Amino acid sequence: MYIDEDKIKEHLEKRPFRLISEVAEHLGTETYVIGGYVRDLFLRRPSKDIDIVVIGSGIEFAKAVASRLGRGARLSVFKTFGTAQVKSGDFEIEFVGARKESYSHDSRKPVVEDGTLEDDQNRRDFTINALALCLNGERYGELVDPFGGLEDMERLIIRTPCDPDITFSDDPLRMMRAVRFASQLGFSIDPETFEAIERNVSRIEIVSKERVIDELDKIILSPKPSVGFELLDQCGLLPLIFPELCALRGAETKEGIGHKDNFAHTLMVLDRLSKNSDNLWLRWSALLHDIGKPAVKRFEKRLGWTFHNHDFIGERMIPGIFRKMKLPMNEKMKYVQKMVRLHMRPIALADDEVADSAVRRLLFDAGDDIDDLMTLCEADITSKNPEKVRRFLNNFRLVREKLAVIEEKDRIRNFQPPVSGEEIMKTFGLQPSRPVGVIKEAIKEAILDGVIPNEYEAARQFMFERAARLGLKPV
Ligand code: ATP
Repeated sequence: MYIDEDKIKEHLEKRPFRLISEVAEHLGTETYVIGGYVRDLFLRRPSKDIDIVVIGSGIEFAKAVASRLGRGARLSVFKTFGTAQVKSGDFEIEFVGARKESYSHDSRKPVVEDGTLEDDQNRRDFTINALALCLNGERYGELVDPFGGLEDMERLIIRTPCDPDITFSDDPLRMMRAVRFASQLGFSIDPETFEAIERNVSRIEIVSKERVIDELDKIILSPKPSVGFELLDQCGLLPLIFPELCALRGAETKEGIGHKDNFAHTLMVLDRLSKNSDNLWLRWSALLHDIGKPAVKRFEKRLGWTFHNHDFIGERMIPGIFRKMKLPMNEKMKYVQKMVRLHMRPIALADDEVADSAVRRLLFDAGDDIDDLMTLCEADITSKNPEKVRRFLNNFRLVREKLAVIEEKDRIRNFQPPVSGEEIMKTFGLQPSRPVGVIKEAIKEAILDGVIPNEYEAARQFMFERAARLGLKPV
């Protein structure tokens, strides 16, 4: 699974590293590749962002590299941060001078001063993120690993290099990052590190929502996101960053009737979906598909536990959740709302006797997102009974077939009214007014109900009939 040190040396023969090494010799500066890039190299994860730390000025060094690269290179300097970036071909290389950081209690903005490589490695969050590879002459390719990061990588462990209470208190986002790396890489969090997270969770409040969401998105995009969510739940971060999700937890029993734990169910749906889709927003939809359930949960004498309208209530809760978490309040949110609103619809189509009109309406409501919706619904089957799962999946296969047949015939997915409002106005000499809308809506309904085909001539004929009922005559 891991690249050995010879392979690392081979990898470092690639152009940007040799060139950086030449500049290092020329300027007489100690220089290292460090952090995520080195970690990912060992883990064989492709990575394009290269972090270079130099013992000296990162900006001067970057300028020298950019000029050596010539025309193909683009240099950006960030004076306030003392960093510079060089983009060349596929690579983005970030240069920074080695630094020492110290934090005060009420802020996560550190006081920064120049430092040694050791200082720079000390300020890093996890041992696996503190590895450095030297790029200087004789030492070219030498691994500098003061905290046993390589061993942790072999043992699949996330561990802080220094006292974890200080690491997490200094920058509480690192707690989210620990969980994110565990979920993303399939690692476990070292017990001492984990206990420190438990002690420091309340500090997460000083971190900006944007940084938290960045990590949460990466957890959601990891191969098995439930790993991350279980960890967030166990350490106590989840109630602070996502209380609505925690509210799904618990299985109540009344009069001998229980219901499933919707928290566990939701995570199962998210994992199942993640096997078939890496669309972040579809994964968010899975996470939120039952979010309305706690609000509408009832125990009814004859029916047992019910969650009526949880799809609509869920849809309505989403803007509040997105606003609070600083998620984008744009078409991405609308897409998630649509998925949550529609997630109960396909199951109703699984019946043999379903009218074409119901299929047409679902196609109209889902539009181009119909395939995503079906993927979500298929992931929503979490029964433990394999016979049931097989039956439901088979039903959904039939639904997909029905959808395909009706779409082929009626072209509803990207429905455009075959007769425009303008044509209605022109035909009957109308100004923009209510009757125009009434006629247009009636044509759409007639098509969706299968009263008329989705064709111009039929729609025009229908327009005349409907207009006559309103007492309108063509001009
Ligand atoms: P990815 O590339 O998957 O987003 P990453 O952590 O490798 O993850 P960056 O966020 O760019 O990528 O960070 C690069 C390096 O900087 C890390 O490997 C780590 O050494 C250090 N680092 C980043 N964030 C922090 C932090 N909050 N505290 C301490 N060190 C950090």
